[in-house]
Amino acid sequence: MSKDLISRLNKGPVLCAEGYLFAMERRGYLQAGAFVPEVVLEHPEVVTQLHREFIRSGSDVVQAFTYYGHREKLRLIGKEKLLEPLQKNALKIAQDAANEFPDLDLMVCGDVANTNIYEPDNKQSHVECQKMYEEQVQWAKEAGVDFIVAETISWLEEMKIALKTIKDAGLIAVCNFSIKSKDKTRDGYTPGDACKILEDNGADVVGLNCFRGPKMTMKLLPEIREKVSCHVAALPVPYRTTEKHPGYLNQIDPGCDCIPGGLVYPTALDNLYCNRYEMAEFAKECVSKKINFIGICCGAEAHHVREMAVALGRKPISYKYYPDMSKHYAHGTDKTLKKLNTDVAKEL
Ligand SMILES: [Zn+2]
Repeated sequence: MSKDLISRLNKGPVLCAEGYLFAMERRGYLQAGAFVPEVVLEHPEVVTQLHREFIRSGSDVVQAFTYYGHREKLRLIGKEKLLEPLQKNALKIAQDAANEFPDLDLMVCGDVANTNIYEPDNKQSHVECQKMYEEQVQWAKEAGVDFIVAETISWLEEMKIALKTIKDAGLIAVCNFSIKSKDKTRDGYTPGDACKILEDNGADVVGLNCFRGPKMTMKLLPEIREKVSCHVAALPVPYRTTEKHPGYLNQIDPGCDCIPGGLVYPTALDNLYCNRYEMAEFAKECVSKKINFIGICCGAEAHHVREMAVALGRKPISYKYYPDMSKHYAHGTDKTLKKLNTDVAKEL
């Protein structure tokens, strides 16, 4: 198989597991709020293990955990000096994890994200954005990544800066917007129009990631698919976000009255969780709509990824442990099970 993302997408779906920030927060290795991935320096073995779990579940892409390890985030926590080691370590961890599975033809990608310093009318902020993207893209290029994802960006103009930086470095660019509640970029473009402009500016893959659950992401995809001719990406969060609040930043849980501050984001989303089968349905719908870069963002766990891989007709490594309820003591069908237990299964 080719390492070239576009050749792979031309042949069929590519599965990409993301969501490292949330996974690390839940495990106790990363602080919600600033969301800076210091874990790649402090506990690299935990990041390696999560890469392994996603690979075993069928992710074709090992995404280096550089997300939110950028200059502005590190400034915010007073640790800018960690920027370069953090970025380089994350890239090395991803490469090493991929190298553990030489038979799988995995691709490794770097990423850049929303800088949080971009202001539409402040030209100096555009220059600063570009510098932030340049340093990250350069480190990723030096590490030999197969492509770079620009993600969770909500301004078209900021995305254009990221895209230009990636293309100027001679790399394949995947550009994924995070679209907030009004179904438009923050500078007022529909996702389809914004993606078309990116395609015209040289983007190799365009689409959406993060922020919205599968249904609210799917809602925006047909317009994108219709307006662009390049490959389209879709990587929702595995949460049941709604028409009222399409994104996960403003969800509440009516069944719980003890959540600090009232909003479930980012630490009490549990009750909104999509199960693995809902994510599998999303993957299938993507295929039917000719959306080939399919994945999952914040909230992802390995069981979601495996079910999405299975929905794509694959048997990833962890398929070895795919559920088989035929041998369950009460719900099972195996002839050797005790009738004493199977007869009362529905009453348990
Ligand atoms: Zn996300």
